[in-house]
Amino acid sequence: MVKERVRILIVGGGYVGLYTALRLQRNLKQELRRGTAEIVVLSPDPYMTYQPFLPEAAAGSISPRHVVVPLRRVLDRCEVVVGEAESIDHARRTVTFSTLATEEKGAPAQRLPYDELVLAPGSVSRALPVPGLAEHGIGFKTVEEAIGLRNHVIEQLDIASSTRDPGIRDAALTFVFVGGGYAGVEALAELEDMARYATRYFHNLKPADLRWILVEATGRILPEVGEEMGRYAVTELRRRNIDVRLETRLESCADRVAVLSDGARFRTRTVVWTAGVKPHPILAATDLPLTERGRLRCTAELNVDGAAHAWGAGDAAAVPDLTAEEPGRECAPNAQHAVRQARVLGDNIVHSLRGEPLDTYRHKYVGSVASLGLHKGVAHVYGRKLKGYPAWFMHRVYHLSRVPTVNRKARVLAEWTLAGLFKREIVSLGSLEHPRAEFELAAGGKFPQDPKGSS
Ligand SMILES: Cc1cc2nc3c(=O)[nH]c(=O)nc-3n(C[C@H](O)[C@H](O)[C@H](O)COP(=O)(O)OP(=O)(O)OC[C@H]3O[C@@H](n4cnc5c(N)ncnc54)[C@H](O)[C@@H]3O)c2cc1C
Repeated sequence: MVKERVRILIVGGGYVGLYTALRLQRNLKQELRRGTAEIVVLSPDPYMTYQPFLPEAAAGSISPRHVVVPLRRVLDRCEVVVGEAESIDHARRTVTFSTLATEEKGAPAQRLPYDELVLAPGSVSRALPVPGLAEHGIGFKTVEEAIGLRNHVIEQLDIASSTRDPGIRDAALTFVFVGGGYAGVEALAELEDMARYATRYFHNLKPADLRWILVEATGRILPEVGEEMGRYAVTELRRRNIDVRLETRLESCADRVAVLSDGARFRTRTVVWTAGVKPHPILAATDLPLTERGRLRCTAELNVDGAAHAWGAGDAAAVPDLTAEEPGRECAPNAQHAVRQARVLGDNIVHSLRGEPLDTYRHKYVGSVASLGLHKGVAHVYGRKLKGYPAWFMHRVYHLSRVPTVNRKARVLAEWTLAGLFKREIVSLGSLEHPRAEFELAAGGKFPQDPKGSS
């Protein structure tokens, strides 16, 4: 039984934030009812994003609102605050954060005291200083990026179909993806599949007119599924005419020309950057210990090393991998660890409040599944290797079993079933990003000279 009133603050509403809060609201039911415990979840978005579904959302197989889990509905015994932590003073047990309201009013950031801190802001794209990347590149970590990219790709087909300028057409039909991890490969494979299908509705476009390029700095892709399955994925993508360039880097994408380290140059309007992640920069705005790579230094009990009442897990945390053969290895940043760590973390906070011994986190990576487009996939799980349709099917079954809430599972399953019965949706709704454009024009605004910004 927790004796005093305790406020547990969870920074981040992703995998770790959601699963830790779920565990805590279940384990502290009585304390929450009596008011001796309070759980606050601070997250910039009121939803958790199930990132493994982003490639399918980009391809239109799952609608964006089913890729996210509404925090307020699922965490009905927690207080969800939509805001962004700006700094954390753990010595004083205080977080400083901004909200939409403070930003709008230009008001100073708010402060919130806490007793226990769970720091789980995840990771951000690891962008390198490549010329033109900041201006023209797009990442693939959020639902906004996935849907923006879908609209953008379909819009490129519209542009290519409506121009006689070969330069504009080539640039519109060339899609460059940088980074051969699961985010890059799955996003490329799903979008290529969708765009190839979409060309049948354009009178002057053929699938062979589209050029898809995957640029990977190392000699392999999809390290998560092992070497053999990674090689298979390269062969499968090349069979589909996707230009996979290993041991190659993007050197520049200034002026909408992608320049690669092997000397190749492509005019392109699409550069998707998925070349790895780095810990979230908020970690540097705390007084908590970080590793050389900027991750939160944690113990196998998920305590922040040497900082009582601070806890960490997921992409942001360097948690020792107790199953690794070489000592000193950290758990890799992936959902498999994030979800399992969150459960141990939730339990350990309760153990610590009750003066009980803490559990140790230990999980051996079991492998991974990846989709390579509709009905195509690759998997290496529990030592079993699968490819093609069985791997794709396994990918779907696995993620359906993992996506949080029965409600979401049912909706995703319904969408997949309907998609099997009807034709794919291939319309670009990019104008949704500018909902006032039509009214501004009607209200006397200027007609845009070059609405597509063609280069
Ligand atoms: C496209 C894609 C596909 C993937 N597929 C797989 C897969 O198949 N298998 C797998 O194991 N892993 C996969 N991953 C990786 C997996 O999604 C991550 O490892 C996992 O999300 C990490 O969980 P987390 O809680 O640490 O971070 P996240 O889930 O990213 O959550 C971080 C949260 O913190 C919030 N936040 C950020 N800054 C602040 C702030 N200042 N204040 C408050 N909150 C903040 C964010 O908004 C977010 O809600 C994939 C990732 C991507 C991008």
